[in-house]
Amino acid sequence: AAEELAGLLRGRIRDVPDYPKPGILFKDITPLLADPEAFGALTEALAAFCKEAGATKVVGLEARGFILAAPVAVRAGIGFVPVRKAGKLPGATLSQTYDLEYGSAEIEIHAEDLTAEDRVVVIDDVLATGGTAEASLRLIRRSGARVAGLAVLMELEFLPGRDRVLPELAGAPYQAL
Ligand code: AMP
Repeated sequence: AAEELAGLLRGRIRDVPDYPKPGILFKDITPLLADPEAFGALTEALAAFCKEAGATKVVGLEARGFILAAPVAVRAGIGFVPVRKAGKLPGATLSQTYDLEYGSAEIEIHAEDLTAEDRVVVIDDVLATGGTAEASLRLIRRSGARVAGLAVLMELEFLPGRDRVLPELAGAPYQAL
C-alpha cells in the first residue's frame, strides 16, 4: 500500500529544471494539489502518521507545508500551528536562525500556540538540506512542547537532510512518503 501511494504521489510531482535558479531541480507539487485523489490520499497518510505519533498539534512550514498540514489537522482532529518566515507573526514569537548556502534565514512560531503538554508533528513538502526542518524542530523543543515526529512528502536523497534532522528528532518517527 505504501508503494502504491508513493507511485500515485510521484506521478503528480513535476520536475522543473533550473528553477528558481540554474542547477536547481524544483519539485512542483501543484499537479498533486490539483488532483483530489492524490491530495486526499496524501492527507490520509499524513493524518495516520499524526495519529500513530500521538500528535496533539501539527506544525506546517511556510509556505507549501501550510497547504499540506492544514487538511491533516482537520482530518486528525488536532490544531494547526504555522512556522513562518521572520516578521510575519503579530504576537510574541520564538525565533530561530539557520544557515543557508549563502547567508542565513530566520523562522518564527507563536510561543502561546504550543504548551508543555503538546506533542507536535512537523510537516513540509520537501526535505532538502534539512536546515528548515531542523530549525523548526528546535523551535518546538524551545517552546517546551515535545517533538512527536517529522513527515515530508519527499526527501531529496542525494542531500544529507535526513542525517541532519534525525538527531533533532531524538528517536521520534520520521517519514518521507
Ligand atoms: P532545506 O531547508 O534545504 O531542507 O529546504 C527545504 C525547504 O525548501 C522546503 O520548505 C521546500 O519547500 C524548499 N525546497 C528545497 N529544495 C527544493 C526543491 N528542489 N524543490 C522544491 N522545494 C524545495
